[in-house]
Amino acid sequence: MIYIRSNDEIEIIRNSALMVSATLTEVAKFLKPGITTISIDKMAEQFIRDNGGIPSFKGYHGFPYSLCISVNEVVVHGFPSSYVLKDGDIISVDCGFYKNHYHGDSAYTFAIGDVKPEILRLLRVTKESVARGVAKAADSNRVGDISYAVEHFCATENRYGVVRELVGHGVGRELHEDPQIPNFGRRGDGKKLREGMVIAIEPMINLGTKDVYTLKDGWTVVTGDGKASAHFEHTTAVRKGAGEALSSFTVIEAAEQANSELNSSYYTPAITA
Ligand code: MG
Ligand code: MG
Repeated sequence: MIYIRSNDEIEIIRNSALMVSATLTEVAKFLKPGITTISIDKMAEQFIRDNGGIPSFKGYHGFPYSLCISVNEVVVHGFPSSYVLKDGDIISVDCGFYKNHYHGDSAYTFAIGDVKPEILRLLRVTKESVARGVAKAADSNRVGDISYAVEHFCATENRYGVVRELVGHGVGRELHEDPQIPNFGRRGDGKKLREGMVIAIEPMINLGTKDVYTLKDGWTVVTGDGKASAHFEHTTAVRKGAGEALSSFTVIEAAEQANSELNSSYYTPAITA
């Protein structure tokens, strides 16, 4: 069942999606080498509840935490843990916020300190691929138009591995609704998009092989070759002409920039004339 949402419903979903963006902004401010990933989860859960929301992921099919935190070669669904972040890590943070009967769902991959240029490039391309997918979420397009845009940019133009086992999805009253939104496919294939559908577009892009496997905990998905993986996601409304992201990276980016300047100011000598 694919739902067409009224404008009122879309505004409620937008509020939940922007609260995910606000939560990820708090994460951006909080991140630095030396902190545990469980401390990020605790902070985020408090922020979500303080803002009248419920963490969508906590208890979802038994998932035990508020955030999925996926470090380096972990693709998605990583457990927050006693792992201590170190300079050069990347960390994908996926978050859901539920309020007024609707979910928002968004993810962002952060660099911790000094990350290798080839991995920063992976983050830039993956983030750009979400924008390309959102642009194709237009009324009368098909799901395959989104899928193709992401795959063509990431795999064909940039030679990255596009994960196939996990896909985007409709989002609304349930965290995961129809239709599925794969990050690979053919233009003109799949379900027709209609204005008012709300979908999560979420490329999971690997530096190396597209192959992934799941650890014995039943959740943690890792790359087949141990190389890094990035994950960005927008809750997106299908509109005439192009999709509209309901979540926003703008505030996250500003906090990310301020945080990196703050952390680097401790050891960057002042330059005087
Ligand atoms: Mg998500
Ligand atoms: Mg999602």
